[in-house]
Amino acid sequence: MRTIVFASNNKHKIEEVKQILNDYEILCLNDIGFTKDIIEDGKTFEENALIKAKEVHEYLKNKNLKYIVIADDTGLCVNALNGAPGVLSARYASDHDDKVNRLKLLEDIKDKDRSAYFECVIAVYYPDGNYKTFSGITKGEITKEEIGDTSFGYDCIFYSNDLNKTFGEASKEEKNSVSHRARALEKMKNEL
Ligand code: IMP
Repeated sequence: MRTIVFASNNKHKIEEVKQILNDYEILCLNDIGFTKDIIEDGKTFEENALIKAKEVHEYLKNKNLKYIVIADDTGLCVNALNGAPGVLSARYASDHDDKVNRLKLLEDIKDKDRSAYFECVIAVYYPDGNYKTFSGITKGEITKEEIGDTSFGYDCIFYSNDLNKTFGEASKEEKNSVSHRARALEKMKNEL
């Protein structure tokens, strides 16, 4: 089985990636002993995904480990907010506090058009230093309240047009059949 290092310790993302790339062994940052805080100061999802993948690629290169590295940068883009929170999705109201971020978003789009989409960019770094990016989007509407499992990001306030339910209500298999992350990873899979 081929091994891929996924540049994340987010347990929800890791679970999804393992399910989608089920014919690969997936190692996360904890598995490779990577503890550095990566500064994501890019202006786009692509820049941030590349920053993460490159940093982990360099770490492995210094240890003479030749794994493919992938990194994911994701955000929720609301049309009435000109694409916000976008690249600032993790820090919209408060750094990495999903609940506070969701409540701010619900407040900010009161009485506005609620159409939105998730975008995910996957950056791949090959052991020889070549790299590539793949993006996936999925469309929906922001709900008026939280519906379903509140444990992962904006899932419980995102009503998927494909599933006719929120990602918070969807099973893992249902979400992975239409999600931004699955769509980007499927494109990548075809080129690995
Ligand atoms: P990042 O890609 O880890 O920087 O995530 C950006 C923000 O989007 C964080 O607040 C995450 O919780 C949220 N997020 C990332 N992926 C998803 C997803 O698939 N569903 C819901 N929220 C997500």
